[in-house]
Amino acid sequence: MTLKDGLELVKRLMRFGPLMAMATIGIVWCGGLISLITYFPPSKSLKNQLNFIFYFCWLPFTVSNYFKAILYGPGYAPKGWKPKYEEDEQFLQYCKVCEGFKPPRAHHCRKCKRCCLKMDHHCIWLSAIYRNQASFMYFLFGAVFGALHGTVHIIFFSYQQLWVRLTLQPKLVLAVMVSSGFGIGTVIAVGILLYSQLQIVLTNMTGIESWIVEKANWRLNEVLEKKNEEFNYPYDLGKSANFWQVFGRPDEKMNGFDYPVKEDCHKYSLTIEQLLQKKIKEERSVPFKCVKPYSGRKCPFLSYPKIAIFTPLLSDLLQIQEGDEITVTRGKKHWYYGYKNGNKTIRGFMPKTALKAVEEPKKEL
Ligand SMILES: [Zn+2]
Ligand SMILES: [Zn+2]
Repeated sequence: MTLKDGLELVKRLMRFGPLMAMATIGIVWCGGLISLITYFPPSKSLKNQLNFIFYFCWLPFTVSNYFKAILYGPGYAPKGWKPKYEEDEQFLQYCKVCEGFKPPRAHHCRKCKRCCLKMDHHCIWLSAIYRNQASFMYFLFGAVFGALHGTVHIIFFSYQQLWVRLTLQPKLVLAVMVSSGFGIGTVIAVGILLYSQLQIVLTNMTGIESWIVEKANWRLNEVLEKKNEEFNYPYDLGKSANFWQVFGRPDEKMNGFDYPVKEDCHKYSLTIEQLLQKKIKEERSVPFKCVKPYSGRKCPFLSYPKIAIFTPLLSDLLQIQEGDEITVTRGKKHWYYGYKNGNKTIRGFMPKTALKAVEEPKKEL
């Protein structure tokens, strides 16, 4: 690690998510350590010694993998990226912001303002996504099982101190007991995350990709009317191969741009599917005009009182002015999703009553 890497790491750590995560890990680990030393002192037996060493290692293991995951970052496609062979360009999506093609499995992250390789989601805790997949998994594993190891000792400690005999300062006992709350919380919350991330590894399908597959099946069954067919997802090579793709030694195939596919799949079957889905979306989009301005704020109780509570809070919202020409691509209760004509990259939801169709909608959105 160079000095520059070190400074970058410090910069990325000084954010709310990483600081909270490290504080929680530290609190649980210290609580466990006090419990361990009180009731299983390493000087007493070899078993205690081994238990102590094992426990002690959770912290460096978890924290170092956390740092690695943060430092490696998600891995971005270089601006203006092109596939090696020109004839492959027809199979790939183009990113206007990055002015380049999107490699297979890459998506544009609006928060990072870059195309991220094998993107799953933009994560506030890690400020990173997927080149760091293995380190991230090790970190989750360490956090869950380290916290479990600590919490078991803390509970034993609390029981002994409260019901058998109080041997330490009451304040210290209370502090250790409070840390068990953090421990239980970590085991449950991070445990759920570990489970869901493990599913992603074993199916070799990110959250975004499972959404694409869902739409692909819809396209096959409803648009092409092939009722009993299912989309053949190209990257699922079987649990074991998928597992080693993340945890095995990195080889040439895993450079973030090329991924091995099933024998009966085209190298670009997923990106071709994405292009077809995009075409359908464009065919089904409807022109609208803004008739009432919308500020882009969450829950606009003053200007749109009836629909304010239905605001899609987790999605982007689009600020619009009267007279703006809008293309709507989909809709949900009381809200349309679309973009201002002339700039497809600024997208979001806006109230249905703020818009008026320029021509009769072809289809109820
Ligand atoms: Zn991002
Ligand atoms: Zn991009």
